[in-house]
This record gives sequence, structure tokens and C-alpha cells, in this order.
Amino acid sequence: MTGSSDILAQFNRLEQAGAIDTLGELRRENRELDRIITDAALMVSYTDVNSMLSFVIGRLLDHFIPQFLAFLVHPPRGEKLRQYCYRNLKESEDMIDPLYYNLMKERFSRNPAPATFAEIAEELGQDLFGDDIRSLGPDQIYPMAGIGGVWGIVILGKKVVGDLWTELEMKYLDRMFRFLSVSMQNGLHYESSITDPKTGLFTHDYFVRHLDETVALCQRHKRTAGILMMDVDHFKKFNDTWGHVTGDVVLMRMARVLKQTTREEDCVARFGGEEFSVLISECTTEGLMTAAERIRTAVEALRIHVDGQVLSVTISIGARLIEPAGDTGSLMLIGDADKALYVSKSEGRNRSSLYMSGLLDRADYIRSEERRVGKECTIQC
Ligand code: GH3
Ligand code: MG
Ligand code: MG
Repeated sequence: MTGSSDILAQFNRLEQAGAIDTLGELRRENRELDRIITDAALMVSYTDVNSMLSFVIGRLLDHFIPQFLAFLVHPPRGEKLRQYCYRNLKESEDMIDPLYYNLMKERFSRNPAPATFAEIAEELGQDLFGDDIRSLGPDQIYPMAGIGGVWGIVILGKKVVGDLWTELEMKYLDRMFRFLSVSMQNGLHYESSITDPKTGLFTHDYFVRHLDETVALCQRHKRTAGILMMDVDHFKKFNDTWGHVTGDVVLMRMARVLKQTTREEDCVARFGGEEFSVLISECTTEGLMTAAERIRTAVEALRIHVDGQVLSVTISIGARLIEPAGDTGSLMLIGDADKALYVSKSEGRNRSSLYMSGLLDRADYIRSEERRVGKECTIQC
């Protein structure tokens, strides 16, 4: 009896001193931190930035909804600022003037501590921030920093429901954004290692790696896929006439057309120079040739305006179906698509040809004829 009343008395003393509440808070905080660590481990497993952001948005939704949220990110290769904006955690079309990014980036390079928008405006000068950014209701600003310093910022608005951010919420956000910075910088570096800086398309190496996997999948699951190899027609002459800068514009515009005319799951790469390749993940022969023609005609329809002139280019395409029964490796398949491309060139350019086994002899014939006459030759079908 005495023992239990002692315990009760001690409990009351602890409660009066606020120790029980503190313990409860610490437990809650501990749970939150534990969750952040689990989340961080999950976050670093993503390789693409969009999946990382979707994950973070999902996690925030479990806690609170900010009226506005923006991630301003400067990719490592120095391309233009990328903006991912959300209103009530739904994607929005808002755009923030890069000038504000530069101002805040400079501030965080001097002082990496997160701050409120009001503090930053006070520090840098109220008149530097116009109504365009103020109307979005920025509240808390966090730096995204890592190797090489600050490369992004997070702008957070006020909560849709509830009052000010609590201390625990601020702690959660701070840690979440720190972990996001690390994984996102990782993701951005990975992205630049597998994409071509000029066109943003996948690199030759990535394409071949992806092709190896596709060939294995086709064999395992008894399905067919396809390769398209394409090359810009008479591009040397185009460069000689209009200059390399205009040539580069053509390659960039072409890259966009390739992305627009293929599916998300297809792998579009810059194979090298003015040569591009597409890996169609699942298709029949007809589907492959339809895709080839869709791309070819879209490039043909492309108009490039330079100094009052309207320019256009054409491409030749070689296609190779990847079959489940074939024991052909990636390099052989690319070689076959190349032969089909060669036939498209020889038969007059601006066309698509499908590889068939007889084509091998035909391509060899063209080559030997070329060597014999010492110039390009066109064979009759
Ligand atoms: P064909 O129809 O037989 O393909 O003729 P072509 O002139 O396109 O072929 P060739 O291989 O002789 O020339 C390829 C040209 O592509 C030469 C090169 O200057 C140009 N090229 C390669 N990479 C780039 C690039 O990044 N930018 C620009 N502007 N030109 C490039
Ligand atoms: Mg070429
Ligand atoms: Mg060419």
C-alpha cells in the first residue's frame, strides 16, 4: 500500500514538474525522427527527381498542406533553372522569376540557416521582392545544398489549415528537406551522367545498357521490341551552308520531336553526332515501321526559322525487330539496324527500311559497289 502511494506521489510530482508532458513530446518527436530516417532511406533509392518529389509530396500530405510549395533547382550542368511548383500540394504552373532564386541563393551561400521570407526580405532589401513573389505567400525558405554549395531552394507557404508552423513541424521539414537535398543532388548527377548535354536525350552507353536488358526481357517473356537507328540527311552540307550553331538548333529541335512522337517508356538516345536511336519497348513489325514513319514525317515537317529563312531537314531510318527466339546480341542488332539505315540512304534518303536477313547481302553489295566505283551508289529495288 505504502509502495503504491509512493509511486503515485512521485508520479504526481513528475506531472506537476511537466516531466510527463515532456516525455510524451520526446516520444512523439522520436517517432517523427524515426519516420524521417526511414523516409530518407527510401528517398535515396529513387534515381529520378520526379519520383523523389512525388514521394516528398505524399509524406507532406500525411502531415499538413502548405498553400504554396516550390522547389527551384539548378541542375549540375548549368542548364536553366528548373521549377516544380505546387498549390495545396497539387502541381501548378506558377513560375518564379530566377532573379529571386539568385538573390536567395547568394544569401544562403553566405548563411546556410533556413529563414522566413520576411527575414530574408528584411535582410536583402524589401524593394528587391515584388508583388509577383509576395502574392504566392512565401513563408519559410530552405536552402538545398551539397557538394559545390547551394544549388536549389525550397519555398514553403503558410499552412492551409491551422496557424503557424509548430517547432516540431519546422524540425520535420528542415530534416526532410536536408535529406531531399542529398538524394536530389544524387539524382541530378545521375541524370546528367546518362543524358547528352546538347539534346537532353539518353547517351549512347545508356541506350546500349537498356537494349541489353530489353533483349533479355524479350527472350524471357517471349515478346518483341524494336530498334530504330536514324541519321540526318546531308547534315554536313547543312552545317556548311547555315553554320554549326544553326545545325545545333536542328539537333535540339529534332530531339524534342523524337520525344513527342514516342512513348514515355521508349528509350530515345543521341547515338552520336547527328545520329539518334530509339528503342521501342514492345512492338510488332508493323508497329515498329509505323513508329519509324511517324518520326520521319514529323522531322520532315519541322520548320526552323533563321534570319528570315525557313529551313528543314530530313532523316533516314533503319529498323530492326528484336525477336524472342533470336540469339542476337545488342551490338549485332544495332549493326543490323545500321545496315537497314544504310539501305535507306542508298535508296534516296528520307525513308525507313526494315532489316531482313537478305538485306545483309544487299548492304554488302552496296558497299562493294561503292568501293568499286569510288563513290556513293544507289541500287534499284
Ligand atoms: P548523309 O546523308 O550521308 O548522312 O550525309 P551527312 O552529311 O549527314 O553525313 P556525314 O557523316 O558526312 O556528316 C555528318 C555531319 O554531322 C558532320 C558533322 O559536322 C555534323 N555533326 C555531328 N555532330 C554535330 C553537332 O553536334 N552539331 C552540329 N552542328 N553538327 C554536327
Ligand atoms: Mg552520320
Ligand atoms: Mg548524316
